[in-house]
Amino acid sequence: MNHNERISHEKTAQGIQAALDTLAMHKPELSPLVSSFGPVLVAKAEMASHLTENQVNEPDLTESDWARFSRGVHLFAITGLMDFQQAFKQAARMILPSMAEAFPDIRLEIEAIERNIADDSLDAADCVLAFMKNDTRNINTFAALSGTTPDIFRFAQAQVAEPFKEIQARAFAPLIEAHQWPHGHCPMCGSLPSVAGIIGEGEQCWLQCAVCAHEWRFRSRTCPRCENNNQNLFEFVFDQESPAKDAERVTICKLCNTYLLTIDLSGHSDPVNMDVAAMGMTGLDIQAREKGYSPQTEMLWNQME
Ligand SMILES: [Zn+2]
Ligand SMILES: [Zn+2]
Repeated sequence: MNHNERISHEKTAQGIQAALDTLAMHKPELSPLVSSFGPVLVAKAEMASHLTENQVNEPDLTESDWARFSRGVHLFAITGLMDFQQAFKQAARMILPSMAEAFPDIRLEIEAIERNIADDSLDAADCVLAFMKNDTRNINTFAALSGTTPDIFRFAQAQVAEPFKEIQARAFAPLIEAHQWPHGHCPMCGSLPSVAGIIGEGEQCWLQCAVCAHEWRFRSRTCPRCENNNQNLFEFVFDQESPAKDAERVTICKLCNTYLLTIDLSGHSDPVNMDVAAMGMTGLDIQAREKGYSPQTEMLWNQME
């Protein structure tokens, strides 16, 4: 392995479906979770496959923009989000039905949002604009029109927006290659990581963003959230009943009281989908929560509880 090898990702809809099927087979107790939330992952990947990086305009970044970036301001905060109103209706149609299935408690609300976008009761351009500007007044209005709360409306919109953020992150990735990013939050969208992958010689640590799927190299044995690197303040929890054994663990940081799912990928030769891998570590997630720690960022299946 070379010194800067990246995680080999599986991001196609078929590949994700195959990984979900394997997970349900190896851990039958997770079958209900896989059948509820798996379709959302597949729908987002399918939507992303309809988009290309060419749809994202290359930003004109000045020296002062890069100075802000080097101070830890994520790139989307500098450039704004791509305008995704054209494909917004299509994305809502593809993603929201699986969301409605996955969240039975808010099923009717999600279905109402989907219907209103489909028949233009909610204008796609207005929705996208309100989302991009985080325009509270309009979001409140659109939520009321769909008979739901602003929180649920934002949640649904954020899910629909994810494939667009992923494509924008892919398009922007070459731009930041030459720039240092020593931070624990995502250089693209600013989110904290959902999972860390350990790979190669010297145990390189790659963090994976839960929102835009970007991955970035980070210092080993350091907490992305608070940058603690005092090894005495880490606790590791393993799941000995998992087929993966020691390769999967949860890393608890006792300084900021959070945890991060961590996968040692040195035994993997095939591409992995980190979302499905994280779903497979739900048992560890629960153990860390029971100890009183919070995840650095919520996964889809832990939201809206
Ligand atoms: Zn991100
Ligand atoms: Zn910490």
